[in-house]
Amino acid sequence: MLRNRKLNLALAGSVALALALPLAACSVKDTPVASASGGVTAQSLMAADGANWLSYGRTYDEQRFSPLNQITDGNVGELGLAWYADMDTARGQEATPLVIDGKIYFSTAWSKAKAYDALSGKLLWEYDPKVPGETAVKACCDVVNRGMAAWGAKLYMGTLDGRLVALDRATGKEVWSVVTVDQTKPYTITGAPRAINGMIMIGNGGAEMGVRGYVTAYDAQTGKQLWRFYTVPDKPGNNDEEYLKKAEATWKGEWWKLGGGGTVWDAMAYDPELDLLYIGVGNGSPWNQAYRSPGGGDNLYLSSIVAIHAKTGEYAWHFQQTPGETWDFTATQHIILADMEIDGKPRKVLMQAPKNGFFYVIDRTNGQFISGNAYAPLNWAKVLDPVSGRPIENPEARYDLTGKPFISMPGAAGAHSWHPMAYDPTNRLVYIPAQFAAYPYFPSKDWKPQAVGFNTGIDSAAGAMPAIKAARDAAKAATTGAVVAWDPVAKKERWRISFPGPWNGGMLATAGGLLFQGNAKGMFAAYSAKDGRELWSFPAQTGVVAAPITFKAGNDQYVAVLAGWGGVWPLATGVLADKSGPVRNISRLLVFKIGGAAKLPSAPPFEEKRLDPPALVGTPATVAMGNNLYGQYCTVCHGDAAVGGLLPDLRHSPLNADPEAWQSVVHDGILNANGMIGWSKYMTKDQIETIRHYVIKRANEDKALETR
Ligand code: CA
Repeated sequence: MLRNRKLNLALAGSVALALALPLAACSVKDTPVASASGGVTAQSLMAADGANWLSYGRTYDEQRFSPLNQITDGNVGELGLAWYADMDTARGQEATPLVIDGKIYFSTAWSKAKAYDALSGKLLWEYDPKVPGETAVKACCDVVNRGMAAWGAKLYMGTLDGRLVALDRATGKEVWSVVTVDQTKPYTITGAPRAINGMIMIGNGGAEMGVRGYVTAYDAQTGKQLWRFYTVPDKPGNNDEEYLKKAEATWKGEWWKLGGGGTVWDAMAYDPELDLLYIGVGNGSPWNQAYRSPGGGDNLYLSSIVAIHAKTGEYAWHFQQTPGETWDFTATQHIILADMEIDGKPRKVLMQAPKNGFFYVIDRTNGQFISGNAYAPLNWAKVLDPVSGRPIENPEARYDLTGKPFISMPGAAGAHSWHPMAYDPTNRLVYIPAQFAAYPYFPSKDWKPQAVGFNTGIDSAAGAMPAIKAARDAAKAATTGAVVAWDPVAKKERWRISFPGPWNGGMLATAGGLLFQGNAKGMFAAYSAKDGRELWSFPAQTGVVAAPITFKAGNDQYVAVLAGWGGVWPLATGVLADKSGPVRNISRLLVFKIGGAAKLPSAPPFEEKRLDPPALVGTPATVAMGNNLYGQYCTVCHGDAAVGGLLPDLRHSPLNADPEAWQSVVHDGILNANGMIGWSKYMTKDQIETIRHYVIKRANEDKALETR
């Protein structure tokens, strides 16, 4: 099966995972590495030739740069579809597949998993953890999953409802499962675990709703918990550890009641020489600091990169990017480790382009700030203090203090979200799938936490897009995307690939001089890694948000991507959701090779649906109440101002004309299994009826705009 003799020997017996460590090839021999099982060590796989893709970011340094060079800027024009596989979940696909020994493994929406033969495309097994549909209401950002980890003969993944499961890699059968969260609270898991020295590290999400963030290490064989590291302090008196005591002094009020936030929902990276695990910590719960920590404070360790001793789970250092975070500015975005010369000295760095719009270069041995420069247009802060790296804020941006709305660039979606970057160590460029989009922060007045849904302290009804063509056009014009090729040594952009809209796919860079990326226009494309010239493209028939991978099977190099439009942008952003043009979800694994000649079935046409709402009902007062309730409970899934993206666009719903059917769905919950819970515990029938009034009002407003 394996062509490479060295690999073949290394993989003999029970195959182990071992992660290639290109951090410093010379140091590899000195690095003690754990035996996964059957005596096969990570060390024996150090000379990775790129045939496999063994971890979320390919290697522990998460560079997403493959040494494979069969597909080059010279022959990529001959790249064609080798095979494809349809998925059974028409929701956002964000996962990076793993490839081990000629087989592809990946997770899909609703935390399902699949395995295929990489050469033939034959389905080997599939796994469904049967996540209850109503879990969807706890998810801020679609029912996605970003990937798996592998160790020994097992695969590991988190489930949306907060389990960590171990699967037998050969059969897909569940070996063990542990609940990693308090399932009575709005925790979810969408991020990929990491496998380190016989431990599986997993975080969680939920800081929009109200939880306390942490990361946990489990024994890879048994699922036994080894350590847990909290990112924000508990209430005073409960913080025994020194780093949490230190954090406690940076909070005010009763932050623990809503958990404080700081979830570790995506980025992790690992330096085996230093045995440091780097985690990216999320935003505060609630966003609005006036309610979270009245009187301010830095609120450690929100919006920070924290280094943890992997073996013990002990705090090593932290670097906070956005002290007193109040804009949903997470530091959970992709973390890349690399060694490079800066100002004439070799430095071991950690790089990140978080939501707040600054590109950070940090010394990963001690957390020292090296540089931070804007990679996107910003108005909340223009520069960082050159010594401390602390942002010098625009006072108007602190809506939490002024009590006045602020339209921030970037907004809550960030100048860069979870979409993986790539780093090409030969060109020394980081490729950032960036986005340029503002967000209106309207502080809620007299805010109280609600039992379900978003708890941000932001009034999304007040900030909703008005039905005014000029306002929409201006917002659309200001909302774009790009791949920014960033030089981390020169601290500046070298060039960019521009897109009409945000929410384009994750990146892959290869030694063939290529970049691969799917996009919101429904294309999957290859670019020159040197200058961004487009060299090849393929109509994927769907928006692509996940990152591609490359691997070798038989004699050929392949490129694969999990296609399928989704995530928070198409759900929540209303008229901005389709800024790149009409887009839909067709969830598929697409696998390419030189000379591939497979064809996709023709895509169904886009439906041009005209609005046909019933006549207005209700009074200005009921419509206003419906607007508020919609903003509180519905916006995040059904879209800003009732303009739907991926999930049903309520303006078109036949239920608008049928108050009883409306109640059966919204109050009684007959679509519970699909993720649309009944809201009877949270709203009365009369309140639910006012949301219908609001939706009908919105549909009529937009119909008038259409026909103008
Ligand atoms: Ca968030």
